[in-house]
Amino acid sequence: MILYDVIVVGSGPSGSMAAYYLAKNGLKVAVLEKENLPRYKTCGGGLVWRGRKMLPFDIESVVKKEFNEVDLFFYGQDIHLKSKRDFPVISMVMRDDFDHFLVNEAKNSGAEIFTEQKVISVDCKNDYAEIQTDKSIFNSKYVIAADGVYSTVAKISGWTKDTRKLIPALEYEIEVGEEEWQRLSKTVRFDIDFISQGYAWSFPKKNHLSLGLFSSKRDKLDLKLHLKSYVNYLEIKQIKSEQLHGFQIPISSRTDGFMKNRVLLTGDAAGLPDPITAEGISNALLSGQIAAESIIEGQLDKENIHKIYTQKLNDNIVQEFKSAEYLANLFYNQVKIRNILIKKYGEKFCEAMTDIFSGEKRYPKNIAKTLRKKLIGI
Ligand SMILES: Cc1cc2nc3c(=O)[nH]c(=O)nc-3n(C[C@H](O)[C@H](O)[C@H](O)COP(=O)(O)OP(=O)(O)OC[C@H]3O[C@@H](n4cnc5c(N)ncnc54)[C@H](O)[C@@H]3O)c2cc1C
Repeated sequence: MILYDVIVVGSGPSGSMAAYYLAKNGLKVAVLEKENLPRYKTCGGGLVWRGRKMLPFDIESVVKKEFNEVDLFFYGQDIHLKSKRDFPVISMVMRDDFDHFLVNEAKNSGAEIFTEQKVISVDCKNDYAEIQTDKSIFNSKYVIAADGVYSTVAKISGWTKDTRKLIPALEYEIEVGEEEWQRLSKTVRFDIDFISQGYAWSFPKKNHLSLGLFSSKRDKLDLKLHLKSYVNYLEIKQIKSEQLHGFQIPISSRTDGFMKNRVLLTGDAAGLPDPITAEGISNALLSGQIAAESIIEGQLDKENIHKIYTQKLNDNIVQEFKSAEYLANLFYNQVKIRNILIKKYGEKFCEAMTDIFSGEKRYPKNIAKTLRKKLIGI
């Protein structure tokens, strides 16, 4: 029987980073991916600087466009905010080649990659786990569930109740006419409130636009209809080619732990996208790295790993989510108050958010208290 130190399920950003760091540190690691690679992934492909700068290698070859400036519009309000840095605040990637690039880095570091292996069961024994795919059986001391928002591994490994909040999102990749391309390809724009409790975006790639939207509203909204209105709103008249994809994004993390038995959750499986923007690539990368570090520092001891992983995830990601969720609630659900605040402090807010997405600042602790003190002095 071949016994791996770690089996990583899924070759998205969290899985590849976990495999990369584990293999780099001499552990025997394999990645099991259900698709053939490269595979399409529904995503705006906007990689913020915070994520890009944490990568230990250069990804220039898979960056389609870079933007040092971001435009924020508030639909129905005469508010337009801009933020600029001297580095790419947001880099545009296509997830098929970006993810393929990352998994190849893991492979070059020594990880074994098995494609078209869909994991269907995980059986944790006393001192190892048996992972069954639709084609074969693998064994490892630990399993990293990096299998995305619908995580099969989480479902079958003890996370029976889903404590994350999932929201639907649409992504629309279109090639537009020359006039529209000249007008829309030079800026990254976010249109807050274009859809209730959410936003729409326009991300220019090399030769096409990636438009999309999401809403955290619980009532069912017709996302396709809203997307159609967005296309009209941007005055896009000529569409040369189009592809529409829908998927879910978890915008709150699990509350029932990130490690059970021999299984660690990362990325979307753990529910780590940012609660305000739903940007998930950077925390996927970071959680993959943290999972690997925890296994290495924990010296393959289950209790140690559990303690280290919980602590590190909390310190580096989850702790801030309380503030981010508070802000998200104010931002999307208390629109009148938010508009008053944005009119007064919009520039500051935009700069602060840019700093957070650039990894220069973190969400402040106790944001509710800080805001209350600033606004009403108590
Ligand atoms: C419409 C939309 C737009 C988005 N736009 C952005 C954006 O612009 N910027 C941003 O930062 N984030 C964005 N996100 C979020 C981002 O896509 C995710 O947060 C990110 O992909 C999470 O990475 P991951 O590694 O956890 O999982 P994923 O990238 O989902 O990777 C999971 C992998 O696991 C594989 N897999 C699944 N099940 C199994 C199985 N049973 N066996 C084997 N393999 C399996 C899948 O095939 C996949 O390759 C967007 C999401 C959506 C839905």
